[in-house]
Amino acid sequence: MSDHDDRPPIDLGGGHRMTPQRREVYEVLMEHSDHPTATEVFMRAKVRMPSISLATVYNCLDTLAGAGVVKQVNVDREPSRYCGNLAPHGHFHCADCGTVLDIDLKNGAELAKTFKVPRGATVERFDIAVRGRCPKCAKVARAR
Ligand SMILES: [Zn+2]
Ligand SMILES: [Zn+2]
Repeated sequence: MSDHDDRPPIDLGGGHRMTPQRREVYEVLMEHSDHPTATEVFMRAKVRMPSISLATVYNCLDTLAGAGVVKQVNVDREPSRYCGNLAPHGHFHCADCGTVLDIDLKNGAELAKTFKVPRGATVERFDIAVRGRCPKCAKVARAR
């Protein structure tokens, strides 16, 4: 690893600096779009940054989600998961294996045109959750 950081800065806004810990947590989320929980992020971050603690990871995730550079995904009462995909998308939750997959809008589709939002309301964000069986689990279920 080089000792200087030439990666582009990410603006967290609100006077938050991109600390090395926040950067590490952010990179973990960018690496795989498999929506890890905080504990999973911690285990991955620890590989490259052994000094990082779970509490720090929680703090970093809070800051990054608050700054809008990652998304917090809540699945019922399960632990929150985190997503680095900021394009408008929904989440598909597999009821069998717990996998969370991104589901993108079809080309040209607009959420605001798909749903009957109350007249006069403004939309800030969408949380679309779709449940079912992921392709893998659906295949297993069909084979049973
Ligand atoms: Zn599944
Ligand atoms: Zn996602």
